Amino acid sequence: MIQDIGAGRFHNEYRACTPQPGDRILCYQNRNVLGRYEAGQLTFLTYEEAGGQMEDTFRYLFSIDGVAYFLPEAEAFGADAMQRLPEGVGWQPLELFRTARPREAAFAAVTGFQLAEWYRTRRYCPQCGHRMVHDDIERMMHCTSCGLMEYPKICPAVIVGVTKGDEILLTRYAGRSYKKYALIAGFAEVGETIEETVHREVMEEVGLKVKNLHYYKSQPWSASSTLLMGFFCEADGDDEIRLDQSELAEARWCPRAEVPEWEDVSLTMEMMQVFRTKGILEFNRETSGDTSAV
Ligand SMILES: [Zn+2]
Repeated sequence: MIQDIGAGRFHNEYRACTPQPGDRILCYQNRNVLGRYEAGQLTFLTYEEAGGQMEDTFRYLFSIDGVAYFLPEAEAFGADAMQRLPEGVGWQPLELFRTARPREAAFAAVTGFQLAEWYRTRRYCPQCGHRMVHDDIERMMHCTSCGLMEYPKICPAVIVGVTKGDEILLTRYAGRSYKKYALIAGFAEVGETIEETVHREVMEEVGLKVKNLHYYKSQPWSASSTLLMGFFCEADGDDEIRLDQSELAEARWCPRAEVPEWEDVSLTMEMMQVFRTKGILEFNRETSGDTSAV
C-alpha cells in the first residue's frame, strides 16, 4: 500500500528547522508536484537546485530515511525560481503516486500534498480573517488576533468489503474519472461511530443491511486528506442490490476467483486481493485467533 515504505522510516513530528544541502523541496501547483519523472522514477528538487537561499521561507514537512522534505512559501518560489529550474524538472501529475518509484518518493509526493493544501488554505483565520502564523513547537497555525488554533485536517472514511458467502460486492463510481472496480466507500458524518458509517454507507449506496463487521486495516489517503478504515462485513438477509445511481454506475456480486487485480497502492485493492486469495471466513479466523468459529 502507499504507506508501506518500511518500518520506522517516516517521521512526521514537527520541527522548527531550515533546509540543509541534500534536503528535498516539495512544490505544488494545483494537483501537480515539481520534479523529474524518468523511466518510472520520481525525484524532487534538492535544496541546492531550488536556489539554496532564503532558508527561512521553507516549512519543514517530514523526513524519510533521514532525508528532510520542505515546502516553500508561495512567495519564495515564484516566477524567477521557475525560470531557473534544472533540465528535466517540471510539473508532474500527483496521480503518479499510484505507480511511481521509488515508493518513498510516491508517498512523499502525496503526503506533502495534503500538508501543502492545509497550509495553503490556512493563511488567513477562518473566524476573523487575520493572517495566521505557525506555532514554534507543533504543527499548528494560530491567529494572532482572535487566538483560533488550527491543526491539520484529516477526514475519517470507510472502505467496506461486503461479502455474501464466496462473493464480494464490487462497485464502479458514477461521474468520476476513476472507472475501475472498487468497494463501497464513504466519509464519516458528524456524530456517528465508524461502525455506523459502514452501515449507513452500504445502505445508502446499495440498499443492503450488513452484519458481522470486522476491522481490517487503515490507510492514509492524502490525495483527499482522508484516513481510510477498511472493514469486511456480510450481507444480512435480503441481498438484492438497490443502486444509488447518483453515486454508483454499477454494483455486482463478484465470485472470489473473478476478483480483478491490477497494480495499485490502495487499501481497496489489498482488501479485494485478501478476499480473492483467502476468503472472508478464513480471514476472520486468522485475525480473531478463534479457530472454533464458522
Ligand atoms: Zn482570528
